[in-house]
This record gives sequence, C-alpha cells and structure tokens, in this order.
Amino acid sequence: MLCQRLCYLGILLAAASFAAAEEQDFSKVEIRTTRLTEALYVLQGAGGNMTASVGPDGVLLVDTEYAALADKIRAALRGLGSSPGGSQPGGSQPGGSAHHDRAVRFVINTHYHYDHTGANAAFAQEGATVIAQDNVRARLQTGGTAGNGGSITREVPAVEAAAMPRVTFDHELAVHVNGDDARAVHYPNAHTDGDTIVFFPKSGTVAMGDIYVRYGFPFIDINSGGSVQGVIAACEDVLRRVPADARVVPGHGDVAGVTDLREYLQMLKDTSAAVAGALKAGKTLAQMKQERILGRWSEGYSPPKAFVDTDAFTETLYNSLRGHVARHGSRPR
Ligand SMILES: [Zn+2]
Repeated sequence: MLCQRLCYLGILLAAASFAAAEEQDFSKVEIRTTRLTEALYVLQGAGGNMTASVGPDGVLLVDTEYAALADKIRAALRGLGSSPGGSQPGGSQPGGSAHHDRAVRFVINTHYHYDHTGANAAFAQEGATVIAQDNVRARLQTGGTAGNGGSITREVPAVEAAAMPRVTFDHELAVHVNGDDARAVHYPNAHTDGDTIVFFPKSGTVAMGDIYVRYGFPFIDINSGGSVQGVIAACEDVLRRVPADARVVPGHGDVAGVTDLREYLQMLKDTSAAVAGALKAGKTLAQMKQERILGRWSEGYSPPKAFVDTDAFTETLYNSLRGHVARHGSRPR
C-alpha cells in the first residue's frame, strides 16, 4: 500500500505520490492555486503539480494530474486572474467568470507517469495539443511496470489514443505563449528516460517534474530508464541555468527556491557517495540496509509512511550505481 498522506517537516502534504488512480477518492480533492508571476500559476490537487501559463494566448499546462480531476482543473483555471487585482500568491481560487480565454491550448508532460498525464485526453479532446519527449509517447503507448528495481513497483496501464502526445521531440522544444518562451528540455535517464524540465525564462521559473520532489527521498523509476546519476546531472544543469531568485516548481510539494534545490542535490550526492563507497568495499545490498548506511538522512527524508523509505532509497541508489537495470533503451513490457 502506498502513502496517501505523509507528514514531512511538520507539513501535511497531499502527496498521494503515484498511487493507482482507482485506489484514490478524488471527490474531496480541491485544486489549490498559487500565483507565481503575472502569467504563471501552480495548481496542486492530487498527483503531480501542474504549472499553468495563463494569458491572451490561452493556457499552457505542464502536466495534467488525473482524469477524474479534469473538471476541477478547468474550474480552477477559469478562476485565475479573472477578478480585479488578480489572485494573490498562495491564495485559493474559487471558480470564477470566464471573461478571459482559459482554454488549454498546450499540454507538456514532464514524464509518462499517470499522476502527471491522467487528464491528457480530457484536454486534448477540447483541442489542446499534448507535447512530450519521444520516450514518453512510447511508454504511454505500451504501459509497463515502473519501479526502483527493488521493493517499489507500479503497474502502469497503456493509455487510450486520445491521451497520446501529438507532438514529440528528442532534445528540446519551445512554445511561445503569453509573452514567455516555455522551453522544454529533455534530461536523459533521470526520474525516467523521458523527463522534461520546462523553463519559463521571462518568469524566472522552472517546472522540474519528478526530477525534484519534496516528499522525502525521491522515487527514481529505474525500470523506466531512470538513474540517480541522471537526476543529479539534471539538477546541476538547472542550477547553472536559472537565476538565484528563480522559483522552482517540484513534481510534488510546494514551490521551492534555488537554495532548496541545492540542498536536495547535495543529499543526492552524499547518499550516492555513501552507497558507492559501500559498493567499493564489497558490501551487499542487504548489508547496506542492515548497517543503515543512509541512516543520517532518514530523519530529514524518510517521514513516517514514506513512499520511498530508507531501505527503498538504498535499493534505488544501489541499482542505479551498479547499472543493475538496463538504462539504455529499456522499454516496459
Ligand atoms: Zn513520476
């Protein structure tokens, strides 16, 4: 059974990270909206965070959460910026008038997991163009078994044709909307093999998908071509590209800053070094768990009922660093 809610640094997050859609009750989910800049918002319901560019060109939505939330997402978008003075940072937006065009024109998927792509079809059927990296389309088409190469596995069903990305890219693609250049960049073998990070350079904002999460130790989908090395490389690249005051939107959890991302990156490097050292010393995975070699990070990154507990993260790093699972061109069955 998967975490439904977990307590992290005293904040109760509706994490529901990657829980199967059928296991969840979406009726009580509310979409919380946070205004980041004139045209950019973060929407948080259940599943992955969404980043929305909203303005005269309509809406560009990064990720779509779950199909069952499509109506609620639409209602939240209608409410954005429609009252005089607009919404306030951190404020909750009720559904409001639609005197601005709030139609979703573009969707960019950060990766294929269903807690980020679930409402693709709902928006595509209304005319949105769904955009994703090539590998995302391939994995959505076949489905497969996501997992960390150890104790975490999730069956991912193939999606209906309507949910499939119509525009795909290999390395990079830009969508020019609402005065900004939403730049989608592929980071290979990170959380999966199809991760996209979306930069909004004029808004000083970056949407990182599940390469950066704030629910504790991250889930890295090694079965789907992910690796801790790729996650580290991606975080380093983001830190090189964004300004010091950038807003960093994680895949799960509240909006962060560069300092938070740097701290997370340091944890990834330090825990990787600990496991690499143990590997070099000839230790087995069982010994690493038993000796709790990641114990000093547990308090900060493994809250009660964590999605990825300390043992699971040890497995993740062990499998990543050993190259246990084929990382190149591996495809779900
Ligand atoms: Zn994910």
